Amino acid sequence: MNLVVVSNRVARASASEPMTGGLAAALLPVVEKSGAIWVGSSGRVRDGTQKEPFAEIEALGAGALAMLDLPAAHYGGYYEGFANSALWPALHSRTDLIRASQDDYQSYREVNSFMARALLRFQKPDTTFWIQDYHFLALGAELRNLGVNNAIGFFLHTPWPARAIMDGVPHHRDLIKAMLAYDLIGFQTDGDRDNFLDYLRCELALNVKGDVVTSTFGQSRCAVFPIGIDPAKFAAHAAKAVSNPDVSRLRRSLNGEKLAIGVDRLDYSKGLINRVDAFDRMLTMHPALKRAVSLLQIATLSRGTIEAYGNLQSDMAKLVTDVNGRHGEVDWTPIRYLNKGFSQTVLAGLYRTAQVGLVTPLHDGMNLVAKEYVAAQNPIDPGVLVLSKFAGAANELDTALLVNPNDIDAMARTMATALSMPLIERRMRWEAMMAKLRAGTIQQWFADFLEALQDQHQAGESSAADLAPEPAPVWPLRSIGSGSVRFH
Ligand code: UDP
Repeated sequence: MNLVVVSNRVARASASEPMTGGLAAALLPVVEKSGAIWVGSSGRVRDGTQKEPFAEIEALGAGALAMLDLPAAHYGGYYEGFANSALWPALHSRTDLIRASQDDYQSYREVNSFMARALLRFQKPDTTFWIQDYHFLALGAELRNLGVNNAIGFFLHTPWPARAIMDGVPHHRDLIKAMLAYDLIGFQTDGDRDNFLDYLRCELALNVKGDVVTSTFGQSRCAVFPIGIDPAKFAAHAAKAVSNPDVSRLRRSLNGEKLAIGVDRLDYSKGLINRVDAFDRMLTMHPALKRAVSLLQIATLSRGTIEAYGNLQSDMAKLVTDVNGRHGEVDWTPIRYLNKGFSQTVLAGLYRTAQVGLVTPLHDGMNLVAKEYVAAQNPIDPGVLVLSKFAGAANELDTALLVNPNDIDAMARTMATALSMPLIERRMRWEAMMAKLRAGTIQQWFADFLEALQDQHQAGESSAADLAPEPAPVWPLRSIGSGSVRFH
């Protein structure tokens, strides 16, 4: 199969660089092995006068990485505008943060259309296109407009919210109708898929049978494919990372003190303020834990030009300073707060050093950090995962300590419980989670989606053939003398 994978950002093959986010981190090893062409933005823009849209094409495993400079006139409206100030807040149920203008939607559609035209370069009769994430909801429709009849699938890495929330996105009907150009639409959880189907039924009055919807594009299937990681790779990284300088410096600095770790992009969906509030509350409720535990919070800067992210950055900096000021001692800092990224090999060692992993988003499609934390633990002395019930990962990792990130007191109590959990319980919970991670690896996810996409594309083609106009009737032959005449 010729496979073309499309996402806004791509990742280069390097275990020593921090990843820009879950999508790139998850896709890199599987795309690299598959021999696919992975297409995405170079992160740069151009004025649009050049004929060649691709800025760079380089080898990636048996395939290639192809990066485009997106059109300068539309980049802001597409990326900071519609994608990250309208769709991202809506998909994470933050309608209060939605900001979008008419021009932003126009720019989003222009960039989707620009990408579609660029992709034609890779189209062969048997090419399968697999589009990733909320930046390209309309890319399938743009490809169909250009006459592409190949299999086209889409996977959404974020949550899909309740119908009333999508109503708050400007042009939502136009956009979601366009999504039905995909043969297969993949979601992280049953809840996300059900919300989407509910929208199609109630808002667009479409005919939905089971998980198949019929629209002007034909039939699309909406199904669930929870994304996984490569747990064996993380376990190997974690075991090796003990000798890494960052990891050994951290270990030495702890002096027998326990460690809780959080690793997130600095994003309002990650629940960072609530997490620090809960850590603060725990130290107040259990003064004996002072000097007995500290929090290492890695918060990599993200989308800094958007107001909501700038506000979060300053709110977090103030809050951490306040907590450290109130609980700290001359020789003890409760929260180590870092705005920089680490490679996954180093991260694996940091995860393994921490007795507690704090993954407490307010909403999250999956949250790969939760899975990575589990995979990186020492099997004979595993740490405890405290996990928000609003992360997609909670569906599988249900033996973590599940919390409601809005309930600060309960989260504080749960953190304390995690810190004192007996080994036998830690092992039972960890083994159950590892079994789930091994059953749902990233390799399995990749293969399952592509198989379902081929099946759905074929099913769609045969149902289209069934619905095709009847061929002109061939009337029965009538004998006229010795000859015969066929009537049309
Ligand atoms: N990550 C990284 N270095 C860092 C912080 C994070 O490589 O310093 C990676 C992490 O290993 C994970 C991804 O970034 O694979 C974050 O994915 P997640 O699903 O947790 O969140 P997202 O950023 O996609 O919302």
